[in-house]
Amino acid sequence: MKVRAQIAMVLNLDKCIGCHTCSVTCKNVWTNRDGVEYAWFNNVETKPGIGYPKDWENQKRWNGGWRRRKNGRIEPRMGAKWRILSKIFANPDLPEIDDYYEPFDFDYAHLQTAPELKAFPTARPRSKITGERMEKIEWGPNWEEILGGEFEHRAKDYNFEGVETEIYGAYENTFMMYLPRLCEHCLNPACVAACPSGAIYKREEDGIVLIDQDKCRGWRMCVSACPYKKIYYNWDSGKSEKCVLCYPRLEVGQPTVCSETCVGRIRYLGVVLYDADRIEEAASTENEQDLYEAQLGIFLDPADPAVIAQARADGVPEAWLEAARHSPVYKMAIDWKIAFPLHPEYRTLPMVWYVPPLSPIQSAAAAGVLEMDGDMPDVKSLRIPLRYLANMLTAGKEAPVELALRRMLAMRAFMRAKTVDGVIDHPAA
Ligand code: SF4
Ligand code: SF4
Repeated sequence: MKVRAQIAMVLNLDKCIGCHTCSVTCKNVWTNRDGVEYAWFNNVETKPGIGYPKDWENQKRWNGGWRRRKNGRIEPRMGAKWRILSKIFANPDLPEIDDYYEPFDFDYAHLQTAPELKAFPTARPRSKITGERMEKIEWGPNWEEILGGEFEHRAKDYNFEGVETEIYGAYENTFMMYLPRLCEHCLNPACVAACPSGAIYKREEDGIVLIDQDKCRGWRMCVSACPYKKIYYNWDSGKSEKCVLCYPRLEVGQPTVCSETCVGRIRYLGVVLYDADRIEEAASTENEQDLYEAQLGIFLDPADPAVIAQARADGVPEAWLEAARHSPVYKMAIDWKIAFPLHPEYRTLPMVWYVPPLSPIQSAAAAGVLEMDGDMPDVKSLRIPLRYLANMLTAGKEAPVELALRRMLAMRAFMRAKTVDGVIDHPAA
């Protein structure tokens, strides 16, 4: 056992209101510069939708940086042949500017000077309508937000094997949720493995993944290798950049900017202890549907005397052990099992976890229980299909997500039935 400490985050999607405050404050601090206008280290996606950059969950499209060996293990495709090819043809798996969006300067003067128009002004992205049907939609981040359930485009979904599976969006099945995203500061980071210059590293003391700007040569292998597409190329400096988890703030005891400014208070930062000797085993778990449990298995109990003794021997500071003992991340991910990794099938062992949104229809919310119904457990009580959440969070395994949702609904009913100083909060109490 080799004990390491990692700063991790849980985002409670049940509370996200999609206000984008986290994205805007992050942008003001970290990417308010030439060369990264298009980059959002933190972005909030409208789901179901194709996200930012476009189609990032479609791993078939971006898999040039990876290969699967015969024994089932996945590793970066970084052989000599690949390096030469990528040099000749440039890195072929890079998202292009249209996959992000094309930034523009808002012309405020135009508000006063624009002539009166017969129709509302339109700007990219726009739809192309052929006959009576929308054939193709050009796109921008959160484009899906206003489409309701009308267009198939909105409802694209990829299952844990990267196969486009379901079309949600028929009127009665319409649903929507928000997914804030940032670099996952993975335990098994693909970006680190893919960098030919050795410029990306994972900090020993807290697991934050950083890019050494002096060493970066702009190969952009990290951009194609990161399955979450959370590295951005700065066209001005010629180097790659990414979320630094606000390490200058963390080092002086302050939360990340996105956590501090989050309107919904959905973000929980905490320290987890893990066994670094088990990373390879967990990342190469054969059955993809077992990856969530495999990842749970590498976390260590911060109250276990044997773990504490080994952590001290491995140089984990006392303050970090204390933080790990009170970690909300550990409680939600491991004790209560209501938080899950995003796409564990990518095998990078992500460290930003998510509490799934609870979306009970009103009768279930009032009753405080989820009614399950045989093959289609979500039909009776949930608006967001259980299958959709499981594809996103547990490589398709529905049982752990269902248990988490039941716990959350029971807790909601319990809290609503409470009285405060004799004042009744809920009519049923
Ligand atoms: Fe690297 Fe991507 Fe993981 Fe961040 S999310 S550590 S950029 S592989
Ligand atoms: Fe969601 Fe918080 Fe970001 Fe608002 S600030 S979009 S509530 S994560």
